[in-house]
Amino acid sequence: MAFNADVLIVGGGIAGLSLASELAVRCSVILMEAEQALGYHTSSRSARQLIPSYGPAPVRALTVRTLEIIRAFEQQLTQTILTPRSFMLIGSETDVETKASGSMQRISHAEALELCPQLKPASFDAAGLDTTSVGTDTDALLDYHRRTAEAAGARIFTGSRVHSVQQLATGWNVGAGAHAIHAGVVVNAAGAWADELAVVSGVRTQGLRPYRRTAAVVHVENQPDPQAPMVAAADDAFYFRREGLGVLVSPAESEPNVPEDAKPRPEDVEALIAKLNTVTNLSITGVQRSWTGLRTQAAHGIPVVGFDPEAPGFFWLAGQGGYGFQTSSAIAELAADLITKDDAGDLHLNAALRPSP
Ligand SMILES: Cc1cc2nc3c(=O)[nH]c(=O)nc-3n(C[C@H](O)[C@H](O)[C@H](O)COP(=O)(O)OP(=O)(O)OC[C@H]3O[C@@H](n4cnc5c(N)ncnc54)[C@H](O)[C@@H]3O)c2cc1C
Repeated sequence: MAFNADVLIVGGGIAGLSLASELAVRCSVILMEAEQALGYHTSSRSARQLIPSYGPAPVRALTVRTLEIIRAFEQQLTQTILTPRSFMLIGSETDVETKASGSMQRISHAEALELCPQLKPASFDAAGLDTTSVGTDTDALLDYHRRTAEAAGARIFTGSRVHSVQQLATGWNVGAGAHAIHAGVVVNAAGAWADELAVVSGVRTQGLRPYRRTAAVVHVENQPDPQAPMVAAADDAFYFRREGLGVLVSPAESEPNVPEDAKPRPEDVEALIAKLNTVTNLSITGVQRSWTGLRTQAAHGIPVVGFDPEAPGFFWLAGQGGYGFQTSSAIAELAADLITKDDAGDLHLNAALRPSP
């Protein structure tokens, strides 16, 4: 079918859907997702934690704003999207000192052990706690954005991979599955495929690289308390937190990978279990399920958000790395302002995220 829209969003993960819900009340929006299900790739594979003290300064500012926005719309909903869940960093004095920023407070060794008695006392020297961190129901969040976008008139198509993007004097002609779309603005929210989409569109790439990250839910003999914080090693060796009757664990690896439907490697999960059985008393007895997602980022580690400086009407919404949920609503708000208004709010933040020439 043939369509016209002010804005065509490529990618139905948290980035594309949160922008669609913000933008659809302002202009006509079409979203194209290659897979049969929205959120199929990285957005269904996260640890579902929003951590205001995590990441570089622009990311922390975006996280604080995202929490404000989600809390505001959550009040109108019957379901809960955010649940209090602190975030605790452990490690050497130097590693914790380096990483403890923003809303993270230093706590004593004894306090850390009280919060998570499953940690072996000799496995860390120092700790920090972010009590403003929360868990999030990512399925509910994705579905909220889909419903809001569609209620405002956005048309969302799954199973429609964008295969051709051609720049015209009047905007862009896009081929997606069996559809042909003419749009004034094309938004690149293609996650791990963002640079590939740029190539298809004849636009210079931004050096975005996908990195593997694996997670698993494991059975344990010593379950952390339901109120216990998520615990992460400050040297990025692992993290874990309670998940239902099991424990969600990750080796917190960041290994370059091609854009693909990434799968976990059994040896990575086995090595993680061996490590956690050394530094904790969780006593992991088996694996319930495991998965791998791709965290895509530019070399500077900050999301890339804004119009391409050389290709008018081509908008980047990519490189969210390990912060895609915690920055989603603030980035969507900024992106919608940049697309529909001259005034784009926080100019300092806007400049930090701008695509490279
Ligand atoms: C193990 C793990 C734990 C994480 N934990 C957290 C966390 O606790 N908190 C947090 O904030 N973040 C976390 N993240 C990061 C977060 O999940 C990502 O930043 C976020 O999901 C990225 O969303 P996205 O929409 O950019 O990408 P995606 O969800 O991958 O969406 C991009 C979509 O674009 C589609 N697409 C690509 N090319 C095309 C095309 N040509 N045509 C049409 N569609 C196309 C893809 O099919 C895909 O669905 C974690 C990630 C991993 C892997």
